[in-house]
Amino acid sequence: MVEPEHTAGGKPSPSESVVRAMSESAARLGLKSEIVDLLRTSWREMRAQLPVRMDDGSLRIFEGYRVQHNGARGPYKGGVRFHPQAHIDEVRALAMLMTYKCAVMDLPFGGAKGGVMCDPTAMSVTELNRLTRAYTQHIHMMLGINRDIPAPDMGTNAQTMAWMMDAYGQLHGHTPGIVTGKPVELGGSFGREQATGRGVVACMREYAMREGVAPSDVRVAVQGYGNVGAWTCRLAAALGFRIVAVGDVKGAIVNDQGLDIAALDAWTKGRGSVAGFDGGQPLPVDALLGADCDYLVPAALGEVVTAENAHTINARAIIEGANHPTTPEADEILARRAVIVVPDIVVNAGGVTVSYFEWTQNIQQFRWDLDQVNAELEERMVLAFNTLTARAAHDGTRLRQAAFDLGLERVAQAIILRGFV
Ligand code: NAD
Repeated sequence: MVEPEHTAGGKPSPSESVVRAMSESAARLGLKSEIVDLLRTSWREMRAQLPVRMDDGSLRIFEGYRVQHNGARGPYKGGVRFHPQAHIDEVRALAMLMTYKCAVMDLPFGGAKGGVMCDPTAMSVTELNRLTRAYTQHIHMMLGINRDIPAPDMGTNAQTMAWMMDAYGQLHGHTPGIVTGKPVELGGSFGREQATGRGVVACMREYAMREGVAPSDVRVAVQGYGNVGAWTCRLAAALGFRIVAVGDVKGAIVNDQGLDIAALDAWTKGRGSVAGFDGGQPLPVDALLGADCDYLVPAALGEVVTAENAHTINARAIIEGANHPTTPEADEILARRAVIVVPDIVVNAGGVTVSYFEWTQNIQQFRWDLDQVNAELEERMVLAFNTLTARAAHDGTRLRQAAFDLGLERVAQAIILRGFV
C-alpha cells in the first residue's frame, strides 16, 4: 500500500486522490481487482540524496525522486520538477497521471515523474548545473531510451535537459533520445517549448466551439506565467480570446478589456514576474482563481482549486493546464455548481505528445519542420478532445471520469495482453 506521507488534516494525499479516481474508474469498467492492485502503487521509486557544492563553498544536501508508475504500454515517460515543495507523494501522483495521460493520447509510453526539492529561482546557473548532474548520476541506471525518458516540468527547462543529456552521455555515450524538451541545437524538436500551451489552447478553442461562442466573447484568467501559462496566453490571444487576468507567484493583474500579451511579455522579460505590469490593475495573488472570467486556466501548481475555494470560482469552465490542479472534493463542489472541468490528462498532453515526436525524431536521426510538428499535434489534440467528449456523453460521466476510463481501459488491455494478470 502507498504510505500516506503527504496527508494533511485527514485529506487524501495527491497519490491517494489519483488511486481513488482510478479505482472508481476500474469499478465502472468492471476490471479485475488484480489490475487495480497493480496500479495502486508504483513499479519503482527512487529517493536520492543529492549533495551539491554551492557557489559560496558550502555543501547543501538536496532530496531528489524518480517514480516509474506503470510501463505496460511502453518506456516510462514524465517530467522532472524542481520546486521547494516537491515531494515523493506528489511525484508519485504525477507519475500515475502520466500513465493515463499517455494512454489517452495513445502514445507508446508508460508513466513516470521526477522531482528535486529545491528553489531554482534562488540558485545560480552553476549551482543548478551541478544539482542536475548530481540528480542524473543518481537516477541514470533507471533511465534508457527504451526504459525511461525524462522531460522538463515546473522549474526546469531545455537547459536542464541539456545538462541531463550531457551527464547521461558521459556514462553511457551520446544519447540524445534519453531526454525530451532539449534545446533544438542538441536534437530537441521544433515546437516542443510551446507544445503544452498549444494543446491547452486547442482544447479551449474546441470547447468554445462546442459552446457555440466566439473566442472574442470568452474572457480567460490564467494562473501561472511560466512555460504553460505564458504560451497559453500568447496562443489564445492570437486566436482572439480575451485574457482578462494573469497571475504568478509574485503578483496578479486584471484588465477586463483584455491584457496586451506582447506588452506583458516585454514586461516579464528579465523580471520573471507579471507583478507591477501597468497594463491592468493589480490583484492579490490569491484572488486570481476567483477572478471574473468565463474560462479559468490553472497553469501553475497542483491542488490549487480546493474545497475551501471552489465556491469562489466565477468561471463557467476550468481548462486544466497544470497537473492535478483540482482536488476531488473541489471536483464535487464544481459539479454541483455546474462548472465544467476539462481535465489535465487531455488538456496539458500537448507537451508529452511533442516529446513523443522528439523521441521518434531522435531515434530516426531525422528532423521534422515546425509546421509538421504543429499539424500532427493539432490532429492528436482534436482527436483526444473529441474522443473524450464523445465518451463522456455516451457514458453519462464527467469529462475527468471519461478521461480516466479511456486511459485505464487502454492500460488494462496492455497489462492483460502482456500476461501480467
Ligand atoms: P514553470 O516553472 O515554467 O511556471 C510555473 C508558473 O507558476 C510561474 O509563473 C510561477 O510563478 C507560477 N507559480 C508558482 N507557484 C505559484 C503560486 N503559489 N501561485 C501562483 N502562481 C504560482 O512551470 P510550467 O512548466 O509552466 O508548468 C506549470 C504546470 O503545468 C505544472 O503543474 C506542470 O506540471 C504542468 N505541465 C507542464 C508541462 C510542460 O511542458 N512544461 C506539461 C504538462 C503539464
